[in-house]
Amino acid sequence: VNVESDRICVCVRKRPLNKKEMAKKDIDVVTIPGKGMLLFHEPKQKVDLTKYLENQVFHFDYSFDDDATNELVYRFSARPLVKTIFEGGMATCFAYGQTGSGKTHTMGGDFSGKNQNSSKGVYALAAQDVFTLLKHKRYSDLDLCTYVTFFEIYNGKVFDLLNKKAPLRVLEDEKQQVQVVGLKEVEVSSVDNVIKLIEKGSACRTSGQTFANAQSSRSHAVLQVILRRHKCLHGKFSLVDLAGNERGTDVSNNDRQTLVETAEINRSLLALKIAMISPGMSSCEYTLNTLRYAYRYG
Ligand code: ADP
Ligand code: MG
Repeated sequence: VNVESDRICVCVRKRPLNKKEMAKKDIDVVTIPGKGMLLFHEPKQKVDLTKYLENQVFHFDYSFDDDATNELVYRFSARPLVKTIFEGGMATCFAYGQTGSGKTHTMGGDFSGKNQNSSKGVYALAAQDVFTLLKHKRYSDLDLCTYVTFFEIYNGKVFDLLNKKAPLRVLEDEKQQVQVVGLKEVEVSSVDNVIKLIEKGSACRTSGQTFANAQSSRSHAVLQVILRRHKCLHGKFSLVDLAGNERGTDVSNNDRQTLVETAEINRSLLALKIAMISPGMSSCEYTLNTLRYAYRYG
């Protein structure tokens, strides 16, 4: 949500075809011809059964091709919002898309590899800018302290990822502000602090579950970077790695639990505007769904 322009900024990032998709000769149905533009090549069939691709054009604030780095995506999407929280505002950045399209890669980054620098996600990159701005002469006199919270929303329930997945209650206060009761706020003073918390929280998100990935794809994860001035709230940046937007009917384990989850995810997703896409033809139904959704709200 871009406060300055008073509207929501919508960006789409295409990830590269992965090894599995290449192995099954999946066709790339997404082209990014230029800034903000996206061509979707929808597979169609004529009455005589000849197959063809029909081009559809979409426009966004920014569209990132499959060679874009997390840094580039961050620079044009979340980065301007860091200033917003220093100016005393609230900002939110959502990653929306099908499971496997790159939401967690974009937001959380990947710290399993050796080169930490190239794998920082939006969480760590935003934290980096927060620590830079704290030292800036415009803000250094404000006496701001930085805190981080990290929680998961699964089936409408909140779990604290920085406190052993403790279940938490959500209340609305007299100002209609949503409060998560007892949510752990950890004071941080460096990017490394934040990365450690992300790693710890992410491990907590998936550990001890047989279908760890399936489970995490069905939940929203929220990292908040909070600025406080003498303990009082100054600004808050919420960075949300949303649950997969695919429909439950397409999930093989289509039991009651899945249907309940899907209803809850769709209910919560409907309240938003946003996007991340897979390039493969095998995912094109989801991709089109995501694009139409993001386009409508742009
Ligand atoms: P999601 O969170 O949307 O379900 P992930 O972020 O877990 O998807 O991405 C699925 C897989 O694809 C991961 O192995 C991730 O490392 C890889 N991936 C996603 N986006 C990219 C990208 N832009 N470049 C390279 N690999 C990517
Ligand atoms: Mg994910």
